[in-house]
Amino acid sequence: MRWGMTIDLDRCNGCEACVVACRAENNVPTVGEEDCEKGRMMSWMRVERYWEGEFPDVKARFMPVLCQQCDEAPCEPVCPVYATYHSSDGLNIQVHNRCIGTRFCANACPYTARAFNWFDYKWDAPLDQQLNPEVSVRSRGMMEKCTFCVQRIRGAQIKAEDGKTTVKDGDVQPACAQSCPSEAIVFGDLDDPTSRASRMSTSGRAFRLLEDLGTKPKVIYLKPVDWNTSQEKESAS
Ligand code: SF4
Repeated sequence: MRWGMTIDLDRCNGCEACVVACRAENNVPTVGEEDCEKGRMMSWMRVERYWEGEFPDVKARFMPVLCQQCDEAPCEPVCPVYATYHSSDGLNIQVHNRCIGTRFCANACPYTARAFNWFDYKWDAPLDQQLNPEVSVRSRGMMEKCTFCVQRIRGAQIKAEDGKTTVKDGDVQPACAQSCPSEAIVFGDLDDPTSRASRMSTSGRAFRLLEDLGTKPKVIYLKPVDWNTSQEKESAS
């Protein structure tokens, strides 16, 4: 089993429902404008925006970016305390209570997908009532990042074991995939050739972010359908 995700950029409309769902599911604090200006944002997921073309013939493009769950993750070998390591089902795990906050992993990550917790953030009432009991509230001095909602994966695995069966395609979805109104995000086992994510990952539109670095991400993007045509137009002009 090797968990992975496809994100169809042709379907993404930049609504950021995935970002909000990720924050709610994983108890990610909102740090505010001042800390954001200091580069202390804590989001585990962001939607990058690009403009294509020149006004008035201009198009906005969106790309949700999260931990790419690399098979050859540059963050793993640099951690002096093995707080980040690879699980047998292909997840790039982050052990919060083992992290000593050196931030070597964040420096090694080419996707800026890791967030360092600078403070013990507080949730003002009534937001403190919405914290997810399945996920720990992290204290200051540790590194955090997307885990593909590992609590949901483990929950589905335990449920399947209890029922003496296995986790089937579609049984588990991270919060981002579940909340995406245009179903741009598909999650599944990349080792299963019949899973939806696996089949989408072999599309002619599939590509990986900064693929040349050799990190072998398990997040696979699908180019917008008209991307090739517009790029050709640009290079011809
Ligand atoms: S929820 Fe879906 S459509 Fe909205 S930004 Fe995220 S991936 Fe794109």
